[in-house]
Amino acid sequence: MAIPTHSQYIIIGAGIHGLSTAWHLAQELKQKKTGSGKDILVIDKTAIGAGASGIACGIIRNNYFQPAMRELMAHSVRAWEEDTESYGFHPVGYMQISPESMHEDVTQIYQQQKNIGYESTFIEGEKDCLNYMRENIFDDWHAKGITSILHEKKGGYANQMKSLYRLADKAEALGVRILTGVSVTGFKTDKDSVTAVQTSKGDIQCDWVIAGPGPWAKGLWDMLGLPNEVDIMGPDGILHSGNQMWTYLCLVEGTLGVDPAYAMNNRGEMPPVIHVDSEAPLYSSEDGSLITDEMWGIYYKPDFNFGGVQGGAAPYTVTGDVKVDPYGINSPDFTVTPEFVHMWTSALAHCQKRYEDQYRMYKNEPSGGLGCFTPDSFPIFDTMKQNCYFILDSNHGYKMIGVGKLVAKEVLGEKQALLEPFRFTRYQKGELHPVSHSPFPWS
Ligand SMILES: Cc1cc2nc3c(=O)[nH]c(=O)nc-3n(C[C@H](O)[C@H](O)[C@H](O)COP(=O)(O)OP(=O)(O)OC[C@H]3O[C@@H](n4cnc5c(N)ncnc54)[C@H](O)[C@@H]3O)c2cc1C
Repeated sequence: MAIPTHSQYIIIGAGIHGLSTAWHLAQELKQKKTGSGKDILVIDKTAIGAGASGIACGIIRNNYFQPAMRELMAHSVRAWEEDTESYGFHPVGYMQISPESMHEDVTQIYQQQKNIGYESTFIEGEKDCLNYMRENIFDDWHAKGITSILHEKKGGYANQMKSLYRLADKAEALGVRILTGVSVTGFKTDKDSVTAVQTSKGDIQCDWVIAGPGPWAKGLWDMLGLPNEVDIMGPDGILHSGNQMWTYLCLVEGTLGVDPAYAMNNRGEMPPVIHVDSEAPLYSSEDGSLITDEMWGIYYKPDFNFGGVQGGAAPYTVTGDVKVDPYGINSPDFTVTPEFVHMWTSALAHCQKRYEDQYRMYKNEPSGGLGCFTPDSFPIFDTMKQNCYFILDSNHGYKMIGVGKLVAKEVLGEKQALLEPFRFTRYQKGELHPVSHSPFPWS
């Protein structure tokens, strides 16, 4: 296919954000009669879903300690509900199951969910939590030290590739072109705006660039000559300089190769996605040895797409010179190790009796992958230079299918209140999001 020499809007990345933005922007242009999908070109160096969106666990939840994240997630859950079936979205709900150290944080989340009309139930106290789990979800539940449960009735999980192809179909039906196998290598700028995107197949002039680069955020950020260190205003009112702009974390996930039907709830139906954080000592289901007596967390769900019970544990920080490529399951460095498998399968057994002797069923195939995080681990949605919009989701984002709808409006000049708390200037202004007691950097 010939490479165009000009496109009004160039979108870099055919992941959840690039494709959602392309489709919504095409809709906006059509509605406003100011253009059409033919004015939009999506380019990806590999393929649709070649990045984090293609390997995501697919979990969709509202459970965030940060009010701005929760409002944005509520917006995105509504976007998933608009086309549940063709996105492969399973609206089974989500449970945050927590120890006492998180009780207060989760109480606040529940209160604020009530305020924004996001349906959930909150259970408190060790005995009531145990009863709720055994009577309503799993009769073999036996996790210890749980004192609160937030049961979100909306959300759940979706099939990653199905949702991405559906978005691509919708965009293409409105005239958007998606070119794969084309790498962005740089930007041509004039004063403070981008005039052309340089690619492996030639330069393409443009009026707007929108980048949804996922784990490749640093690469594109550097190409635009943006800073690798950032000043952050602390709560002490002092501007702290020299903070590293990008940090990589490796997400550890895998699949227990049992029949997904084995993991159904008491009624034989698909249960909610389960997320457990715990301070109870975690012992090996293989030999009874102590794995950790520090706080740990896991999440899991039966998933026919993955062919078993799929889930993960808290990620770890990667230091030194990070090689993002080859990405995902092709990476020699950033797929899971036997330590993860041991911990995760033992944690499943800690939660439910049925998993006590199932560790042998773990699917020994590469899984997991890198995420690229901002200084406070929350997204940046902002225009850098005058016409380059960055969707830098700090690895929060498969669930954020609705962000593209808001970005499309912003690119066309309509500021969106839901995106305001995610501007780059928040670091300098000290307008940071509150930090929770969860062991996960994304809660
Ligand atoms: C193992 C794992 C599990 C996860 N699970 C969940 C989950 O359950 N729920 C959830 O909400 N989030 C989850 N996430 C996070 C989520 O996947 C990401 O936040 C989200 O998919 C990022 O979407 P994106 O569109 O920004 O980037 P990506 O999906 O990574 O897409 C970026 C695209 O840009 C392309 N690209 C990069 N550089 C260039 C270039 N120079 N030129 C051209 N193209 C380029 C890449 O090929 C890629 O296709 C998970 C992440 C990982 C790694």
